[in-house]
Amino acid sequence: MEKVLTVCPYCGSGCKINLLVENDQVIGAEPAQGVTNQGELCLKGYYGWDFLNDPKLLTPRLRKPLIRRTRDSAFEEVSWYEAINFAATRLQEIKHKYGPDSIMLTGSARGPGNEANYVMQKFARAVVGTNNIDHCARVCHGPSVAGLQVTLGNGAMSNSVEEIENTKCVFVFGYNAAVSHPIVARRILKAKEKGAKIIVCDPRFIETARIADLWLPLKNGTNMALVNAFAHVLLEENLYDKDFVAKYTEGLDDYKATVAKYTPEYAEKITGVPAQQIREAMRMYAGAETATVMWGMGVTQWSQAVDVVKGLSGLALLTGNLGKPSCGVAPVRGQNNVQGACDHGALPNMLPGYQPVTDAAARAKFEKAWGVSNLPDKPGVCLTEVPKMVKAGKLKAYYIFGEDPAQTDPDLHEVRESMRDLEFVICQEIFMTKTAMMADVVFPATSWGEHEGVYSSCDRGFQRFYKAIEPQGDVKPDWEIISLMATAMGYPMKYSNTQEIWDELRELCPIYYGATYEKMAGLGYIQWPCPDLDHPGTPYLYADKKFQTPSGKGLLFACEWRPPMEKVDAAYPLILSTVREVGHYSCRTMTGNCHALQTLADEPGYISMHSKDAKALGISDQHLVSISSRRGKIIARADIDDRINEGAVYMTYQWWVGACNELTAEHLDPISKTPEYKYSAVKVEAIADQ
Ligand code: SF4
Repeated sequence: MEKVLTVCPYCGSGCKINLLVENDQVIGAEPAQGVTNQGELCLKGYYGWDFLNDPKLLTPRLRKPLIRRTRDSAFEEVSWYEAINFAATRLQEIKHKYGPDSIMLTGSARGPGNEANYVMQKFARAVVGTNNIDHCARVCHGPSVAGLQVTLGNGAMSNSVEEIENTKCVFVFGYNAAVSHPIVARRILKAKEKGAKIIVCDPRFIETARIADLWLPLKNGTNMALVNAFAHVLLEENLYDKDFVAKYTEGLDDYKATVAKYTPEYAEKITGVPAQQIREAMRMYAGAETATVMWGMGVTQWSQAVDVVKGLSGLALLTGNLGKPSCGVAPVRGQNNVQGACDHGALPNMLPGYQPVTDAAARAKFEKAWGVSNLPDKPGVCLTEVPKMVKAGKLKAYYIFGEDPAQTDPDLHEVRESMRDLEFVICQEIFMTKTAMMADVVFPATSWGEHEGVYSSCDRGFQRFYKAIEPQGDVKPDWEIISLMATAMGYPMKYSNTQEIWDELRELCPIYYGATYEKMAGLGYIQWPCPDLDHPGTPYLYADKKFQTPSGKGLLFACEWRPPMEKVDAAYPLILSTVREVGHYSCRTMTGNCHALQTLADEPGYISMHSKDAKALGISDQHLVSISSRRGKIIARADIDDRINEGAVYMTYQWWVGACNELTAEHLDPISKTPEYKYSAVKVEAIADQ
């Protein structure tokens, strides 16, 4: 038996893992001594490799290229030569007929790795000629990137996973660490054991609330009012770091004026959190020697998400909790490589290394390296704008790479309609997902475990992941498929391996230049910025107190609270919020094909509701219920749970039968275009005769 060191393919914790391989089959996994996980794994790390053995639990692995010659015909298996030529010819036709901006592409935040994302965005920009490339960060931490870029100049976690256990106050806002990032949750637990104070803001009594010194159960949709009240208390009670604010921040006068009316008493009326608790929370946060504010989807999946992110970073600026160890702002990125897909330009406004597409000097550098002229200079279309752009006749083709929008994006009826209205859809995948089923061409790719490369974990840490087994069937690595497409479209792209791609991107991205394959070998962990070959990487940002904003100062930001866009009423009286579950990941294609994980939770999915709401509706635990919104209707099993608040129900989005995105709305944050997954009005009804 052989042990192959690699990185877990699920969440952004970046756990190092040893895959146990026998006769070219993975037969087990054990933790390795990675920087973030230090010899620990969660259940997905221990049992999430089984899909590699293709047990066909949810859907079989894709093994051959597939094309559909007309929309009404069935898929047929073809050679790679035919599939690539078929797809390249159709994309060229569409490009010539409607222009490059009629084509949309995605990166992938999952198994493919940083090199494949770099190659995909290069294909979009240098071959197709568009900035229409985006990925699922749009539906999760897009607001963290957009908000922090304005207030601090860098959209990533300012600190490290490792540092969390040494912070003196962990301030958790809209983040269920135990479910989203179990290994990060252990750091919070260790911080508690070392004497840290824990504050939790969440409508649900989540796992972290069990160990919290203060739990603030705010009403769904009131984040901005609570953040403003926190700022009010810090200023009113003189709890803020005046020296830090004077030297390193700007905007204090406007900030004071905006938060003036958000007294704790006023905020209590909006949020439901007792005024005294709001005061106590800020006394605890500001009184700690170091404090870290951590957030997740409970902050970002709202129509006012960017404002709240800016507001949270303002609390860190006010208290001087930036630019030193064991403090800072921690938007903990979800999927294993969502940070990496952002880092490497799978965004409509950024070239790799966070170089704006609007920056002429940056474009000139990439044009020279890529041997092209006139790279597009206007930001492209966001993922969540696709249905609207298709309806407007502006998008005609979609090249979807390692994403499943027909399962994960809001208002699935709209998503399906837009996919049908597109003239041509390519899906590059490892499983026959709902999205792949609607494509004209399906490219079967190698999976995590079958290829190698580099991932970025949630704290900007680059780590190499390795191939453990030979892929079965006629599949290819993602970067190779995209290179074949580029070549067939007249732009020869000839990489021999991922290191060649990595070295090309290092040369073009000053903040990654020093992160070589050699430094990242084995357990190597290099956090960007890493500007030169001798640089060890950067565990925490802003050590020089210079923020990467135009003025070099951190921006204090506050604005008025806006209620959620959807309204509950007599017809749809409950709030539906989408959440995560610990045993499955994202759209479930990988974890749903793992025996051990599937036994934990399976179709038709669950809807968590408070016993008082259930009783009022005549619903018993585990009974089937129907859930409907203004957009659709699904079935799920009731999970009666008094750790959640009355008036709200919670579902994960992974189920095929009970796909809660049939119910969610396309209400977007106006800046980041992130959907308000956390607030849809629904009706829940018991199903009789069970
Ligand atoms: Fe670690 Fe996340 Fe994988 Fe669990 S899912 S083992 S926490 S990387």
